Amino acid sequence: MSGAETVRKYDPEFTKKVYQMDNGKWVKMCMQCGICPTTCTLRGIMDHSPRQIIQLIRAGDKEQVLQSNTIWMCTSCYTCSCRCPRGVPMMDIMHDLRHLAEEEGYITNQSHMAQVYYNDVAKRGRIWEGGLTLKYSLKLGVGNALKLAREMQDVGMEMFKHKRLPIFPPKGVKNPAKLRAVLQKAAALAKEEG
Ligand code: SF4
Ligand code: SF4
Repeated sequence: MSGAETVRKYDPEFTKKVYQMDNGKWVKMCMQCGICPTTCTLRGIMDHSPRQIIQLIRAGDKEQVLQSNTIWMCTSCYTCSCRCPRGVPMMDIMHDLRHLAEEEGYITNQSHMAQVYYNDVAKRGRIWEGGLTLKYSLKLGVGNALKLAREMQDVGMEMFKHKRLPIFPPKGVKNPAKLRAVLQKAAALAKEEG
């Protein structure tokens, strides 16, 4: 083996753990037909296709699964599930994997974004794109934030021109108490199911 090659670790306990999660039984049902990657509109920016994620879980490749951006990129659009011959609810598997990634301390740029996004919605019920971008950048650290700003400057300018990157936060929802009640209820349910 050349020095540049990395040794991949396989962890059968990880496979067992995923099988025991809420949607773990569906991981066993996949027949690797390959329809989901051809259906998923986000496939082009995912580290691994949904089909590959299933295969990596079965192989016990914990690092590849929990570090991958795939589990955070899935938008829960349900398209692949509608077309899956086995009815595998891919978005629910992805949700389980996100929880597991957080539990096991796998912090990635995408998990940072999910956290910042949630905090923003929880605060006023509406997204403030300007503040969200800033908070996300700060989480990445100064060096990475500057790199991201350079990469995304054209997109940022276009958003600004089209009033999609406001400097000031938008008004919150009319009834923030109701929003908080919904979020608290969801958190309590998640804890119960925990
Ligand atoms: S479409 Fe369904 S059965 Fe086919 S690879 Fe995807 S999850 Fe597996
Ligand atoms: S549910 Fe997720 S994995 Fe399936 S098609 Fe939609 S974005 Fe892709």
